[in-house]
Amino acid sequence: MFASNLDTPLVYLKGVGPKRAELLQKELGVTTYEQLLNHYPFRYIDRTRFYKINELHPDLPLVQVIGKVSAKEIIGEKHKKRILVKFTDETGTMELVWFQSLKWVEENILRGGKYIAFGKPNLFNHSFSISHPDMELFPRQAGITGNLTLQPIYNTTEKLKKSFLDSKGIQKLIHLIIELHINEVRETLPKYILEKYKLVSRKEALIQIHFPRDTFKLQQAERRLKFEELFFIQLQLLHNKQLRSLKFKGALFNEVGEKINTFYNKILPFELTNAQKRVIKEIRLDTQRGVQMNRLIQGDVGSGKTVVALMSMLLANDNGYQACMMAPTEILARQHYHSIASLLNDDLAKVAILTGNTTKKQRTLLHEQLEAGEIDILVGTHALIEDKVRFKNLGLVVIDEQHRFGVEQRAKLWRKNIVPPHILVMTATPIPRTLAMTLYGDLDVSVIDELPVGRKPIETKHLFEGQRLRMFGFMKQEIAKGRQVYIVYPLIKESEKLDLLNLEEGVAQMRDQFPLPDYQISIVHGQMPNADKQYEMQRFIDGKTQIMVATTVIEVGVNVPNASVMVIENAERFGLSQLHQLRGRVGRGAEQSFCILMSAAKLGPNSKLRLDTMVKTNNGFEIAEIDLQLRGPGDITGTQQSGVLELKMANLAKDQIILQEARNTVIELFEKDPMLSSPDNSLLKTYLDKRTRAIAFDKIS
Ligand code: ADP
Ligand code: MG
Repeated sequence: MFASNLDTPLVYLKGVGPKRAELLQKELGVTTYEQLLNHYPFRYIDRTRFYKINELHPDLPLVQVIGKVSAKEIIGEKHKKRILVKFTDETGTMELVWFQSLKWVEENILRGGKYIAFGKPNLFNHSFSISHPDMELFPRQAGITGNLTLQPIYNTTEKLKKSFLDSKGIQKLIHLIIELHINEVRETLPKYILEKYKLVSRKEALIQIHFPRDTFKLQQAERRLKFEELFFIQLQLLHNKQLRSLKFKGALFNEVGEKINTFYNKILPFELTNAQKRVIKEIRLDTQRGVQMNRLIQGDVGSGKTVVALMSMLLANDNGYQACMMAPTEILARQHYHSIASLLNDDLAKVAILTGNTTKKQRTLLHEQLEAGEIDILVGTHALIEDKVRFKNLGLVVIDEQHRFGVEQRAKLWRKNIVPPHILVMTATPIPRTLAMTLYGDLDVSVIDELPVGRKPIETKHLFEGQRLRMFGFMKQEIAKGRQVYIVYPLIKESEKLDLLNLEEGVAQMRDQFPLPDYQISIVHGQMPNADKQYEMQRFIDGKTQIMVATTVIEVGVNVPNASVMVIENAERFGLSQLHQLRGRVGRGAEQSFCILMSAAKLGPNSKLRLDTMVKTNNGFEIAEIDLQLRGPGDITGTQQSGVLELKMANLAKDQIILQEARNTVIELFEKDPMLSSPDNSLLKTYLDKRTRAIAFDKIS
């Protein structure tokens, strides 16, 4: 009936039935035996450790205590009814409380009996209590948990608990599946890989992950399952990469022609850094192979990614292709447009811009010009990927500040041409290596690991609220020297109103305590109409205002070289990469720049570590790693929706070595056996074929 017994719906498992099966599906998303087997414990309790009552402490997680029921009473009426048990050992007495399952407690927990009570201790009126403890007779009976040293604890929900599927209930179901069907578990990794990395079999791993015999066995199981998880992500990514290079011929950029030469020799106002030269060379090589380029440029804020992008676009133009550049915000798209258009005169390249604000009339004209090939470089926002936008001959797409674009959107761009264009994506700030390997593992990576010469490192200071006047004084002094200042307020997610209030109060306070009769302030926040934002931004860019007060809309990419002071209000509310990104708005000109982090006096340990890190280092790669350690991968900007990061076992902040092993294994695999035709790899081939079919099916239906 089912391909394997493990595909059997849970409703057929003894002790489940239709109601619980439906609940398991709704609450945990599991419908088959196999899926429940893949519902791993999220932690384990050491059941060899017992606590004495006088050792209890309110900070302890779950504990087990051996004691005797010295008293038992029912108190309260109706739904307030509860059972209180006095539980005593040789060091003292504690209380056990039940509000539910009273009948069961009545019948099974007997005065004078000796039990093991297990649960979370709470301190109340100087004595400890556990509500709804797990109770076992002492000495322990043999059975599922009887000889367990590490007890698995499973995620569950209130609804499941009401149907007796608490952690223990789930444990029982899983135990049953293992008892009956564990021999049907199929190995998913080739034998030679298991041997090379000394991995336990999938079957052994599943037994030990649920019911570990000891911590060593548990670690082995975890390592195996983490490896497997990361391995199959890499297999898919690198398979996609290989497919693309087989399937998609890339435009050939053989010619280093007049446009790029003129730009390099006559226009470029500075010497490229070695890192920039190296990356341009990598792009040159990539675009001469007749294969579609998919390359990620990682570079710190201010490392000069834009000029690399521009030269790549000119390379496309020199070879008869159009290029486009997509930015995540209107402001940024405009800024790119203006800086590019001002560098290139019309003979060199015709540059245009397309955003959500482009009028219908302009748009119609633009569409025509694009299809006629009259535009060489198109800059814009998401508006670029609309289906109506067609090019005559698109050869290169640059995506700036990549983390705001999903994989899906990238794919949409490939379909803009019969021969898909080369793709260059640029990150806003560096991302940690493990994250890059997982999110962008199908791309080649270039790193600009060098800042332009003569750039003075930004000095960062952390000041507390009490030192505000000092900060104002400093601002005044810098403005008097002709510089400009940013003041940034955090976005308060829950309430845009509060957000604005915060900002407005700040401005009022500044006007009050720090009168600047001769200076102008620009204000930009999320609730303003776009046109007003644009206007205010432009006044600051043109130097008509000296202070830019903003919520984080200025975060990404804005370039005003004369701005040399970045004040970040409530800095403790920002994440590290965001702080680094904001700081990168200054230090773009020749002047010494400063970043001032304002915060409350009292800080939690993580906030303090973030601000200390900012004061200590300007290195974005270093900051990205610390950010990952602090927050875990799920919280890194823009990665939540990506799917690849919903890892069950592996943790990108901790499992760097396993990830590297898994990736290396896959790279080697495809080098030796690109079509996976060797019998040793047949498992992997079947896996990929199945996935490919599933995806194709998704598209049809
Ligand atoms: P990011 O990598 O953050 O996007 P940008 O491309 O905006 O950085 O460059 C930051 C600033 O540095 C710009 O004003 C740019 O003109 C300038 N710049 C880029 N490369 C160099 C270089 N090799 N020498 C001097 N200045 C440079
Ligand atoms: Mg940039």
